[in-house]
Amino acid sequence: MHISTKRFYDKPIKNGVIPEELAYDAFMMFASRHKHDREICPAFQESRNESHTAYGFHTSILAVSRKLASFEELKEQFTHCTGCGACDIRDPNNLLAGDYYLRTTTNVDLVRKVRHDFLASGNGYKEWAFVGKHLEEHKRHKTDELTRWADGLGLPNKGSTILFVDCLSALQTPEIPRATAKLLQAAGINFGILSEPWDAGAEAIETGQFEAAEEYARHNAQQLKDAGAKTVVVPDAMAYETLYLEYPKVFSSMPFKPIFATDYLDHLVEDGMLKLEKPVKVRATYHDTCSLNMRTGIWETPRRLLRSVPELELVDEFHIEQWWYCCGNKGGYKQTHPDLSKDLASGRLKSAADLGVDGMILGFSPRCSMQFREISKKNPNPKLMELSGILAESAGI
Ligand code: SF4
Repeated sequence: MHISTKRFYDKPIKNGVIPEELAYDAFMMFASRHKHDREICPAFQESRNESHTAYGFHTSILAVSRKLASFEELKEQFTHCTGCGACDIRDPNNLLAGDYYLRTTTNVDLVRKVRHDFLASGNGYKEWAFVGKHLEEHKRHKTDELTRWADGLGLPNKGSTILFVDCLSALQTPEIPRATAKLLQAAGINFGILSEPWDAGAEAIETGQFEAAEEYARHNAQQLKDAGAKTVVVPDAMAYETLYLEYPKVFSSMPFKPIFATDYLDHLVEDGMLKLEKPVKVRATYHDTCSLNMRTGIWETPRRLLRSVPELELVDEFHIEQWWYCCGNKGGYKQTHPDLSKDLASGRLKSAADLGVDGMILGFSPRCSMQFREISKKNPNPKLMELSGILAESAGI
C-alpha cells in the first residue's frame, strides 16, 4: 500500500470555495467519528468547545463546503489551535485518514494552510500582524546585538559544527545559548555561530505567513552554507522544529543536519566527553515542550540528561498526562486568546506544583520560558529552572 507524504491540500481556499480535495478529506474525518484528540487538545481543555479540535476543524470545513456554516465562523475557529501536534500523534484518523489509510494528513498542516489561505485572500488575522513586524525588526538587528549572548566566548563565524541561535533566543533568553556554548566548549567541541541569523521562521509558519517564512529560511540556509555548516546544533525547541520539519519542504536537499541540543549533549555525555559530576540537589519535574515531544519526538534525551545529574531527583509527570500540556505560547494562540493562553500556563504550573516538587525544568525553549516566567511572577511555585543552567552547574561551568 502506498502512503503518500505529499503536501496535501495544495489547492487554496479562495473566492469562497472549499477545494473538492479538502472537502473530501474533511468528510472522511467527519465520517470516521474519531475523537481521540479532544481531551489531549490544549485549546479544547480551555474552551470545552468541540469546534476547537482536529475533528471540529475538519467538520467545520465540511459544513462550509456544504454552505451550512460561514467562512467567518471558520476563520475564528481556526485561531483556537496552538499547533502543539498532540492530536496528530493521538488521533489515528489524522495520521492515517483522509481517505482511510491511503494518505497521510496532519491537523497542524491543515490549520496552517487554512490560516495561509485567509491571509492570501486578503482576509488575514489582524492579531497576527505583529509577526510580520517582528520579522522586519529582526532583519534590522545588528550582528553585535544578535551575538551579545556569546561575548567573551571567542566563537568564530565558521565551522562544520554551528550553534544556531536565532534572534528570539539571542535577545529574550540569552542565558540558554550561552550555557549551551559553554557546555560544548567544556566537551572540547570546535564550533562556530552565525554572524547574522534571522528568525528561524516558526511564528510565521504557525500563523500561515509562508512566504515570509520561506524568505527567512533561505537567508538562514545561505548563512549556514557560507559558514561551512554540516552539523547544526539548535538550542531552541521551536527553531529546531522549524529547521527539522519545515526547511526540508523549502530545499530539495539540505547540506547540513539539524540536531537538537539535548540529543547532541546526550551523545557527549555518553561518549564521556562531557562530565556531569557536580551534584545539583533539587527535586523537580520536567516540562515537555510541544515542539519536542509531540512535533519532533524528543522526550528521552532531556530526561536522560537530567538523570545523569548527581542528586537531582526527577519526579516525572504521569506517562499519559505528560502528553497533554502546552504553555499556550505557540501558534499565535497567546495573541488571539490571551486569557485562555494564561490559563493554560497556570494550569501547567499547578499540575507541576501538585507533584510536590521544588522546581519545574524547562528544556531549551525560549517561548515556554518567556510564557512561564510571565505567569509565575505572581506565584513562583514551583520555581522555574532551565535545563541548560542545571547541566552547566553539574558540569562545573
Ligand atoms: S494541534 Fe494541538 S491545539 Fe491544535 S487541534 Fe491539535 S491538539 Fe488541539
